[in-house]
Amino acid sequence: MMRQYELVERVTKYDPDADEDLLNRAYIYAMKAHGTQKRASGEAYFNHPLEVAAILAEMKLDTATIVAALLHDTVEDTEATQQEIVDKFGPEIASLVDGLTKIAKLDMVTREATQAENLRKLLLAMSRDVRVLLVKLADRLHNMRTLHHVKPEKRQRIAQETMEIYAPLAGRMGMQLIRDEMEDIAFGVLNPDAQDIIVQRLVRLHTESGNVLREIEIALSKELAANGLKAEVSGREKRAYSIWRKMERKQLSLDQLSDIFAFRVLVERVDECYRALGVVHRTWKAVPGRFKDYISNPKQNDYRSLHTTVIGPHSMRVEMQIRTHIMHEIADRGVAAHALYKDIAEAKSGDATPAKESNAYRWLRHLMDVLQEGDSPKEFLEHTKLELFHDQVFCFTPKGQLIALPLGATPIDFAYAVHTSVGDSCVGSKVNGRHAPLVTHLRNGDEVEIIRSEAQVPPPAWEAIAVTGKAKAAIRRATGAAIRKQFAGLGREIVEKLLERQSHPFVEKELVKAVPRLGHKNVDDALAAVGRGQLSALDVLKALGLTVDEKEVRAMRRKVSARKAAGSSKFSLPVRGAEANMALKIHPVTGAVPGERIVGITMPGEGITIYPIFANALEQFDQEPERWVDLAWGIAEEGQRFPARIHISLINEVGALAQVTQVIGENGGNIDELQLVKREGVRDFFDLTVLIEVFDNRHLNDIMKALKSRPSVNSVARVTG
Ligand code: MN
Repeated sequence: MMRQYELVERVTKYDPDADEDLLNRAYIYAMKAHGTQKRASGEAYFNHPLEVAAILAEMKLDTATIVAALLHDTVEDTEATQQEIVDKFGPEIASLVDGLTKIAKLDMVTREATQAENLRKLLLAMSRDVRVLLVKLADRLHNMRTLHHVKPEKRQRIAQETMEIYAPLAGRMGMQLIRDEMEDIAFGVLNPDAQDIIVQRLVRLHTESGNVLREIEIALSKELAANGLKAEVSGREKRAYSIWRKMERKQLSLDQLSDIFAFRVLVERVDECYRALGVVHRTWKAVPGRFKDYISNPKQNDYRSLHTTVIGPHSMRVEMQIRTHIMHEIADRGVAAHALYKDIAEAKSGDATPAKESNAYRWLRHLMDVLQEGDSPKEFLEHTKLELFHDQVFCFTPKGQLIALPLGATPIDFAYAVHTSVGDSCVGSKVNGRHAPLVTHLRNGDEVEIIRSEAQVPPPAWEAIAVTGKAKAAIRRATGAAIRKQFAGLGREIVEKLLERQSHPFVEKELVKAVPRLGHKNVDDALAAVGRGQLSALDVLKALGLTVDEKEVRAMRRKVSARKAAGSSKFSLPVRGAEANMALKIHPVTGAVPGERIVGITMPGEGITIYPIFANALEQFDQEPERWVDLAWGIAEEGQRFPARIHISLINEVGALAQVTQVIGENGGNIDELQLVKREGVRDFFDLTVLIEVFDNRHLNDIMKALKSRPSVNSVARVTG
């Protein structure tokens, strides 16, 4: 355990003016308060607040923060009272401890609706003073470091909570070091197998590539020095969890991940960052599309840096981050680095200049202002990027009404959640102002506008798309009614035609009188029975007092049904949702394949063009909602192929093109069209687009993944038009 004088020494080392007496008193007070309490590991409980204080001393935080860390569990877990803290340590520290006590009372792990409310309270407590947030994150970090002592079930819960709330929060506050460590520990608990595989692979890579890291470090340092730049260069492998996240996001296997190495170049001044970038780009080939300037456009959490990827020695892709030492400090420590420079007393009295506060923390404070004022869950959800609401999405009507739906819900569910009549008349939807197909999975904070038409009848296929019980039941009801209506229409047509032949007008009133004789309650029921073939039209005519040849009735029936059924089989494209007699074609620029979400646009005189939902060309139809048709893929014929255009960027070397055609062929794709795209002034890379024919989206993805894994291939992407 850290001794009293050690802690004081650590603090006075970076803050010679620190109040030593205060630190000493807090140390003794907390030690006595926790007494003989033990942690799950069996060690003295007091070791925990002490380690939390040490983490914060590492971040060079002010004495009040260190003292609050020492005291953070006293009121919650011991006999100590808030009043005692006020009396002994004054209002400033007492207020920090009070915030921490409030947080401790929130059991974030409940999977109930209270979760949102608890998160709100948590953020509220932390937004009172940035130091409450810092102590809480350090507290959680130490709990993660000692997580292996906790019982397995509780361990899972804590790891989950850390992954969902505290790690993202640390990231949002720009505290990358804490976020990384939290994620890595949580990853090991939540997905130990995946972590093992990645770590083993990294170890193997390390042995295979030998001193490549060191080699690049030296080469880079030399080159920078030769250009008169004093720079600190360091290389590292990426962390297991960040590799895992990338694999998941891009759906790649470990072997397909090419940029495992990352380098950092630290310089003194901003202009030197750009000079260093120039040196790097002159020395190695830059990979197009990978340069990002977060110095002129800082991230929301105040992160600043230049990013680029180059093809380094041994043709390895190497990621680089170039920044100044101060930017680096902020990249690692975020709000904690800001807290360092901030005059805290000033901030407390309420007249801190906003410029001194970090953007990240201002974001949190702003969020809380909004919550306190308007209490609008919309703002809350728009602003919190915390992936907390695992099994729910919260969406809004254009008027701001909150609609809570289960995960995977679609605009159809949304429409029925608003009102059954809205669902029944729904023909389309706009999500955040843009047309979106009704199969879209809604996300937190989406504003959903339902486009309605009174003529609409919900298609039976919706039942499979909807996820809420309410929508499914309503669709079943409505389609049941609609089917009955269709049969009634068919029956009416048969009866009308027959009457016409007898030169007898169709008079509703006569029928109304006749239906009781037919054993039906009303005309529609009787006509629907005729449509279904359960009731002979002849009987209807008999009931009206007329006679007619039975053969004629059967012939009439066949003719009418045959015409009704026409159309459904003449499509070659397996697409549902279009009117029977419409011609369909796939947008030639992007192509579209089963498995992708599609929409149709009616083209006057031509029929319907099918677009994948990501097609840029759709924007031009934004103002013409009446042309949008909701389509869905049906079942394709055996062996039927569909076009998709992809864009491939290749390293300009011998055999690169041959690799592409070979990979596509080997994976069962047909090449329909291949075009080279000219790029002025770039000689190291060249681009091509290929129109390939595939069976479905999965087939297409397999081919794209196989292409990505080839060394000559720099990038593969779907052409979006
Ligand atoms: Mn604690």
